[in-house]
Amino acid sequence: MEKEKTLADQKREQLCSKPKNGYDRMPKEEQAALDAYCEEYKKFLDNGMTERECVAYTIRLAEARGFQPYVRGMALKAGDKVYRSNRGKSIMLAVIGTEPLSAGVNIGAAHIDSPRLDLKPNPLYEENELAFLKTHYYGGIKKYQWVAIPLELHGVVALKDGRVIDVCLGREPGEQQLVITDLLPHLAQDQVKKPLGTAIPAENLNVLVGSRPFADDEGSERVKLQVLDLLYEKYGFTEEDFLSAELSMVPAYRAVDIGLDRSMIGAYGQDDRVCGYASLAGLFDAKNLRRTGICMLADKEEIGSEGVSGMKSRAFDTFVSDLCDSQGVDLKVCYEHSFCLSADVTAAYDPNYADVYEKRNSALLNYGMGFCKYTGSRGKSGASDASAEVVAYTRRIMDEAGVIWQMAELGKTDQGGGGTVAVYLAERNIDTLDAGVPVLSMHAPFEVTGKLDCYMTYKGMKAVYEA
Ligand code: MN
Ligand code: MN
Repeated sequence: MEKEKTLADQKREQLCSKPKNGYDRMPKEEQAALDAYCEEYKKFLDNGMTERECVAYTIRLAEARGFQPYVRGMALKAGDKVYRSNRGKSIMLAVIGTEPLSAGVNIGAAHIDSPRLDLKPNPLYEENELAFLKTHYYGGIKKYQWVAIPLELHGVVALKDGRVIDVCLGREPGEQQLVITDLLPHLAQDQVKKPLGTAIPAENLNVLVGSRPFADDEGSERVKLQVLDLLYEKYGFTEEDFLSAELSMVPAYRAVDIGLDRSMIGAYGQDDRVCGYASLAGLFDAKNLRRTGICMLADKEEIGSEGVSGMKSRAFDTFVSDLCDSQGVDLKVCYEHSFCLSADVTAAYDPNYADVYEKRNSALLNYGMGFCKYTGSRGKSGASDASAEVVAYTRRIMDEAGVIWQMAELGKTDQGGGGTVAVYLAERNIDTLDAGVPVLSMHAPFEVTGKLDCYMTYKGMKAVYEA
């Protein structure tokens, strides 16, 4: 016999919010779709270790689904799928809705650059018959995490004659990889007493690239010469060509399942390709769009969204205004009716570092897509701080679409903080809310996400486009 509910029970049910683990809320039938989605996401990670590779892979996926490069002036009708690559480093994709652009667009914005070590303009040198590449860190991975892990070299070398050479070394099974050495503990008496932030200075992040001298030669710097010879043989560029190159060291890790239960994904660059892929796949799968859906995959977020391929660039306005022009719509009218979900990762609550989190307002692994009304640091500095109405609108969309989601802040109020591209969309007069996937070991060479949260973020982005 069922116990009769007391008044308190009834009130508790009616009034209290009681978050539950996503696995207790998700219908069992969704598990197969979740697993299938995560397999495609892992491929996206492995094929895009830099923003350029990400754009190239995105174009491959998009063209296979009927997207075409948008040429200014092209007529557009509902259902058309177009994209514009911004210099091969960021990309914007649109699916035209049945309503005119004056009704606004639904935007999913994420970034596809990740923290890494860029090579300096004059990187190659030899010391004590070892050859090294000097690096300049891009974005914030704690420096001690770069040493003694396998690294790959990715990027491009642009030649004076206009050719651009793609470089990708270390990704193929069995291919040679590179490393930054660390000091053995036996001689680290002084090093281990230093604060974590200074124990590995930036100028020590020198990548070991060779040790064998060029044969049959009495000249100087034979190891360096041997490395240059190998680079020329393999890629066809010389030492001076480093001056016009964008070459980066990235961790040599493939995306893998984590946990005995395979409930998580471990990989480099999940900030923010996890949201980049969710925004992209959401647009691919969105059905019957009323408003035009735009997926924006930006570069340079990790260094402040600056530059011609960052979110501050007018390239975004140019793309949307080109779309507007095709319908005779004023860009400002489009913007003021638009909505953007700025999708970027947030910190997942980590019981190993409990003291930096505020438990009641932290994103939990497997509790779904994380929404942040505001990001920023200290007194919300640098936050776009969405309005209550925008948050309510999003709550409705998510609940109607069966998305499991949570509301969170990144850590304790005065512990630190972070920003996203949200501010740069909001300042264009577009209602914008921050959202994204909670990450463990965020900004490490190997980051961990919960598969359920990855999948729910995809569902959430799809729901935004379909709204
Ligand atoms: Mn990010
Ligand atoms: Mn980041």
